[in-house]
Amino acid sequence: MRTDFVRALERAANLEELSRDELAVLISADEEESAALFDCADMMRSRFMGDEVHLRGIIEFSNICSSNCYYCGLRKGNTALKRYRMSKAEILESARKAAVLGCRTIVLQSGEDRSYPAGLLAEIVAEIKSELDVAITLSVGERPREDYALWREAGADRYLLKHETCDGKLFSELRPGTVLEERLQRLAWLRELGYQVGSGNMVGLPGQTVETLAGDIVLMREMEVEMAGIGPFVPNRQTPLGSCPGGTLELTLKTLAAARLALPRTHLPATTATATIDALGRVKALRCGANVIMPNMTPLKYRASYSIYPGKTGLEDTPEESYAKAVRMVESAGRKVGTGYGHSLRHLEKKAEAQAQAV
Ligand code: SF4
Repeated sequence: MRTDFVRALERAANLEELSRDELAVLISADEEESAALFDCADMMRSRFMGDEVHLRGIIEFSNICSSNCYYCGLRKGNTALKRYRMSKAEILESARKAAVLGCRTIVLQSGEDRSYPAGLLAEIVAEIKSELDVAITLSVGERPREDYALWREAGADRYLLKHETCDGKLFSELRPGTVLEERLQRLAWLRELGYQVGSGNMVGLPGQTVETLAGDIVLMREMEVEMAGIGPFVPNRQTPLGSCPGGTLELTLKTLAAARLALPRTHLPATTATATIDALGRVKALRCGANVIMPNMTPLKYRASYSIYPGKTGLEDTPEESYAKAVRMVESAGRKVGTGYGHSLRHLEKKAEAQAQAV
């Protein structure tokens, strides 16, 4: 093993803050080093996050998008895609089903559907929160600050807005008309508004280097994110990047493991995209630092139309099957399904502090 790799891994195990260069050394691990990296990440996950895996039921309620990201099948330029928006009644029904199955978090995700009325989403959030004992994560992209505030007041607990890449030039190339600084500004607003904040990045984008991936982790550490979704770039033929090579499982797992070492108290999902490039991808991710799985609760009739990338796993699984599969994955990794909401540790600490002060 390389001396700088061993040194970086030792420093990580001692909870010392790794530099971007050290993270890049970890991410460029060879096969022997990877085994040590994965073991260390798994140990860190066990120490800080325990053995529970949180199952967050995701409802993909609209595939309409006003943006034109080069890597995503939901881009507005993809005229081959059949568009849909679930009704409020359908969303509530899916949320009920997810809660009955055992999900303690409902994730409401959509394309960047800017004409979706903020007030309607607020109503949906409020009704779910009043009826069901669940936390709510929203993932609906870039919106004005007042929309984020409205949804927070309605009861949303968390917001997921991936920064996708820390390379500002690459960001603007891949997301025409948008800049990284504005994305980061929105993440700052979400924090100010009291959300538990999630971000994340893709692995294997064209033009990305190992140093970029290390920079993604450093950026998320600086933002103190409470969730970090790290998954492979999967090319979609109906997009401008359709003929580019995709991200590999190996690089994705190494980036995930390095993220676990740098962000020991952050929730890290074993992403669906990981399962798309390798049937056992999510179980492998659970062994490299991940502690969250998001079973798909979207009604079957809409499932295939939420095609950010092709070959998405579980397109024919009912919500019940998606949930059962997630449970089997957790068990096959020797772990147990989380029973709580799966709030961030920082959120739980803040709540405990407030309670102590109130006594
Ligand atoms: S990544 Fe998000 S904003 Fe970009 S095209 Fe896809 S759904 Fe729309």
